[in-house]
Amino acid sequence: MEETKRTNVNELGEFGLIDHLTGHFKNRHKSTVRGIGDDAAVVDNGGDELTVVSTDMLLEGIHFDLMYSPLQHLGFKAISVNVSDIYAMNATPAQVTVSIAISNRFSVEALEKLYEGIEFACEYFGVDLVGGDTTSSMKGLVISVTAIGKVAKEKITYRNTAKVGDLICITGHVGGAYLGLQLLEREKQLYLDNPKIKPDLEEQDYLVGRQLKPHARKDMIEQFAKNDLVPTAMIDISDGVASELFHICKQSDVGAILEEEGVPIHPKAEEMALKFSLDPATCALSGGEDYELLFTVDAKDLDKVRYMADIYIAGEIVEKSEGVMLHTKGGNRHKLQAQGWKHF
Ligand code: ADP
Ligand code: MG
Repeated sequence: MEETKRTNVNELGEFGLIDHLTGHFKNRHKSTVRGIGDDAAVVDNGGDELTVVSTDMLLEGIHFDLMYSPLQHLGFKAISVNVSDIYAMNATPAQVTVSIAISNRFSVEALEKLYEGIEFACEYFGVDLVGGDTTSSMKGLVISVTAIGKVAKEKITYRNTAKVGDLICITGHVGGAYLGLQLLEREKQLYLDNPKIKPDLEEQDYLVGRQLKPHARKDMIEQFAKNDLVPTAMIDISDGVASELFHICKQSDVGAILEEEGVPIHPKAEEMALKFSLDPATCALSGGEDYELLFTVDAKDLDKVRYMADIYIAGEIVEKSEGVMLHTKGGNRHKLQAQGWKHF
């Protein structure tokens, strides 16, 4: 009998799997400027602007837990994480499609709540809901969103264009969403053990909000435009700073020195990390889902980024041979570790 080979997807990992399945595909159209590999695909339909397209899927039990994710927040988050990939190209989102798969567990009223959040996000990010698909699922809720945006040709920002000497910058604060998740998981466990216990989430609005309703950085793209700044490379932080920096370095064929001192962790996140006996720096570097932006700028733009609101300079791009290093607060230098979210 012929032996059929069975390879577990774990063996390849998420990116290895995508590459294994799609690496040999050829693009047929001149209009396909960039395919798989960046935050969004890039299409040139003629004219001064490029079109960018990105898709992301959220699954109940994998990406969200309805025990603590209110449906309005979930609707908002589904749009936010998708337009985040459009902003990561320095582009402006304009349209979204939303597809849902629902089991009979969901009532019309519940779905109305989901769409209230979607509607609020469409208003907040200035996008039009233009289509989608609705189908049933055996179990649980699936939400898949596609976002379409535009950017002037000279402003498009890829992942593979960082160069030696560029500064590494991070918007906002990182690590908060991960600690928000730890908090929600802890309260869920306590509740399951004893349903009479009331959740103790008072004064945790910040961390819980970072997890449940992240706000993609529309304001940053606007700030770049106002200051005539075009980053040399950019990616959004969905899997954690370390993992995203590895993507930029690998694709740009460069190394990096990340300054632990420069990685912005919010005081509330730091405090909670210590309460959970976690290392705040590890939470900031490897905690996912902050949906901030990690980008590089030419050194000549130092003064521009230095005076922009909510941007932190956290290191420098170096030669590839130097590797991707972390310069710790204690003055040590070692290889950066990435423990991004792996859903397999
Ligand atoms: P992001 O985190 O920015 O959403 P991903 O890590 O999900 O990006 O995906 C990396 C790249 O691989 C993207 O360019 C994405 O479009 C592409 N990709 C992911 N899954 C598939 C797939 N099943 N088939 C083709 N391309 C895929
Ligand atoms: Mg992305």
